[in-house]
This record gives sequence, structure tokens and C-alpha cells, in this order.
Amino acid sequence: MLIKFFGVRGSISTPLRTNEYRSKLKKVLSIIPEGGFLNDDEINDFIVQLPDQLSYITGGNTTCISVSSGNHECIVDMGSGARVLGDRLLKGDAGKGKAEIDVFITHTHWDHICGVPFFKPLYIKGNIINFHSPIMDLHERLQYQQTERFFPLPFDQMPATKNFHTITPGEVMNFGENCQIDGLLLKHPGGSFAYRFKEKNKSFIFATDVEFTGEYLEHRDDESDNFFQNADLLVMDAQYTLDESMQKFDWGHTSLSMVINCATRWNVKNVMFTHHEPSYSDLKLMDNLRIGKNHTKRIGNRLLNVYLAREGIFVKL
Ligand SMILES: [Zn+2]
Ligand SMILES: [Zn+2]
Repeated sequence: MLIKFFGVRGSISTPLRTNEYRSKLKKVLSIIPEGGFLNDDEINDFIVQLPDQLSYITGGNTTCISVSSGNHECIVDMGSGARVLGDRLLKGDAGKGKAEIDVFITHTHWDHICGVPFFKPLYIKGNIINFHSPIMDLHERLQYQQTERFFPLPFDQMPATKNFHTITPGEVMNFGENCQIDGLLLKHPGGSFAYRFKEKNKSFIFATDVEFTGEYLEHRDDESDNFFQNADLLVMDAQYTLDESMQKFDWGHTSLSMVINCATRWNVKNVMFTHHEPSYSDLKLMDNLRIGKNHTKRIGNRLLNVYLAREGIFVKL
């Protein structure tokens, strides 16, 4: 199973601003070795060994990932990152109108569907896009997003064939060579849906836009516990720091400390923060990662690895 990240920002697309770019640039220029570089290779080596917040950007596109099993690749959510993924897919069968693409939607807040009108495979006749979600009126919602007041081309006039499949409670779907997908309804305004991918003995769970609080940890919840238990990789909404989550109680997102607490309860092996708060800089997100790792140590969990989702990375399970 291969998971690729095309959008990891929460709520709204967040391009890198000049101030942040200049602050990175200043720090990089201040550590250039005396005598400079002799060639391109030396420059590339220097860039690769920079601290993460200087070597990379976390990325400003909203939620979109792809999951591959064998030669089959599906998409989860179509935030603004779907534009980037769509352009890449055009190089393959999707560019010739010969692709069949499965798309799993967690929920229809804008940051998770705003990439649909910009997903170029939908503009090519012959492509088949299968939308899966527990939302009974998903088709109507996507039509509404593209009514003439909001977008020049109606959804139904996009030339690809669109199919809609409503996931029923407890349904298990087959995908790729030997991969099963099921889901769980999450606490979030209007609801959100987590997806679990199981292939051979590995499991990957994508749980974005969810609010777990201390109250959850005080009670038994067999359904959630069974769903998340022993995941090899859990990518989870960790939009806020603990302090901010107190101010934004009931906004539908989880604090990074609570993500660690939950991952510990569920015996998860690797957890990755996603749905990053738009107002957080790369530096702040790296700091959040450090806080998350420290919190993991403090509560005595030596088995959990903690990561930060970043645009352009991929994870193989
Ligand atoms: Zn969201
Ligand atoms: Zn949401």
C-alpha cells in the first residue's frame, strides 16, 4: 500500500506568504558555508541537510491524498490538492479518457471538495469517476457547488462519467489487488467519515475533521476502539495545540496532544498529524511536532512514532 499526500492544510488553502519565505531565506543565507559552493551537487547537498522547516514547505493545499494497492490508485477527498493530483493523472490513462478513478469523500465542507471543479480528469470524456461516501445526496451537493453563481460550468456538464455509491453502515468495499476499505462516522459538525484500508496484515486509517476530547478517553467506546485499534498508520486531524483546542471547543477538530492520547489508547504504531491550522507557519508546525513527540515520551509511550503530514511525501506500508 502506498499513500501519497497532495493536500494537508485544514479549512482553507494557505499559500506561503512573502514574510515566511523571507524569514526562511534569511536563515538559510545565514548558514551558507564560508567560500560558498563549487557546483550544483554541493548546493543540492546543502539543501537536503537543512533543518526540515528550511528544506521543505508543509504545503498550503487542502485535503487530498491518494492510496494505491498494486496498480490501483484511489483518492480520498478533493480539496485544492486534487488539482495537483489531477494534473499528474493526466499523464496516464486519465489523459486519454481511459481511466476509472475511485474517490472517497469524508464530508463536504469546502476544504474537502473545492478541488472537484479543478480536477482535469473530469473534463475528459471516457473517464469514469466513482464517488463513494455515506452522504446520500453527494451528487446534489457537488451540483450545488457548481451552480452558475459559484462556477461557470455545471457539474453535470463535465464530460467524464460520474457514478455515486452511498456507503451503508458496516459496509466493506474491495479495492485494488487485496485491499478492503471500511469506515466510521466521526464527531464533526455535519459529520465526517474515517476510512480504513487493510491490505495483507497492514492497516492505514485516514481520520480527518474529527473532534476527540478528554471526555472520550474517560469512557468506553467499543466501536471507535475496535476501528482504530492497532493501526499501522493513522493520519489524523491535529489542527490545534492543546491551548487553542480549549478556546475552540466544539469546532470539530482535535488537539495534537489528544491525538497522541488516542493513538496510545488504540495501540497505533505510527501517527501523522494533518489538517494543519491555516494560521500556523512551518516553524510553528515543526514546533507542534516536537511538542507531540515530547508528549508521547511524557506519557510513557515508547512504541509510537509521530510525524507531520507534508505535501509531496509518500508512505509505503
Ligand atoms: Zn476540513
Ligand atoms: Zn470539516
